Amino acid sequence: MLSKIIAEDLIHKVDKLLSVSDKIVIVVHVGPDGDAMGSSLGLWHYLMTIEKEPVVIVPTAFPNFLKWMPGSECVLVYEESKETSDKIIDEAELIFTLDFNVPNRLANLEQAIMEAKAPKVLIDHHLHPADYAKVTISYPEISSTSELIFRLICRLGDFSKINKACAECIYTGMMTDTGGFTYNSNKPEIYTIIYELIKIGVDKDEIYRRVFNTYSADRMKLMGYALYKKMKVYPEYQTALITLDAKELREFNYQNGDSEGLVNMPLSIAGVVFSVFMREDADKIKISLRSQGTFPANKVSADLFNGGGHLNAAGGESYTTMHEAVKKFEQSLSDYKEFL
Ligand code: 5GP
Ligand code: MN
Repeated sequence: MLSKIIAEDLIHKVDKLLSVSDKIVIVVHVGPDGDAMGSSLGLWHYLMTIEKEPVVIVPTAFPNFLKWMPGSECVLVYEESKETSDKIIDEAELIFTLDFNVPNRLANLEQAIMEAKAPKVLIDHHLHPADYAKVTISYPEISSTSELIFRLICRLGDFSKINKACAECIYTGMMTDTGGFTYNSNKPEIYTIIYELIKIGVDKDEIYRRVFNTYSADRMKLMGYALYKKMKVYPEYQTALITLDAKELREFNYQNGDSEGLVNMPLSIAGVVFSVFMREDADKIKISLRSQGTFPANKVSADLFNGGGHLNAAGGESYTTMHEAVKKFEQSLSDYKEFL
């Protein structure tokens, strides 16, 4: 029996909203990851089984290694189908916003969702949720939004409606947001849930292979290049930095998702507790930060790069040149020595 993490009154509110809504939109953050796709598609499958009309709309494309996910073929990418999406959002009776805490994580989708008349339900596990939803289900102590979706469905009394496709999506989100259960994954109930998901038919070994063992040769070479040529270690700060500029990305035929996981790798170096990866995108430098133990990756991201996230996994952006972003980072490292 799982603990009742989600407050009873929130469950009632969602139940009530569901009972009066058929047209339901589900949205996630820009650059959707495994948990964004897992939670939204998990909820989508559930809503299908209770005969609703759900549509998942994502701001930008999701990575190829998630394209096997059941239901992903029905996902609308806002960037590519703005007109259709706007119409669906306008007609929606209920909107779920998943796996992010503040509206600007919706990027190009922010305005349409914030202006939509349908009530919103936020389900998320990041700190400090903004106050825009009718129902806010925010539990930062839970390691994935997908786990919260599982808990929500169970509390709505519908465990029996979780089919194999739904279970696969939920499992994927739980697995990716914990790095394959290597961080943020010490809560025993995670494994109670996995036990249930496997009983429903999830092949966890297969999902691991599909998500983590699907590199293209170019991607593998990019990783090798980044580690060999572009990783800088700052032993006195137990920190590592990898940067990749646009030219380098082009050289390796960079595709969406190709640098996924790269930021975690330097944490395998003994003594390194903080790892940062900066990637030059078309309009900005995207920054990913990971840490071990109590070193606050989210604080560094908020202080330096307009970002945020979790203690051990955070992100941010810089609208400067790569050179300037690196300089700012290097000059600030000593400010965080107290956290080592
Ligand atoms: P990633 O490095 O995988 O893009 O992001 C890791 C985590 O950092 C995400 O789960 C999210 O919580 C947070 N994050 C990533 N990018 C941003 C950002 O631009 N702003 C904020 N506030 N958080 C971010
Ligand atoms: Mn998440």
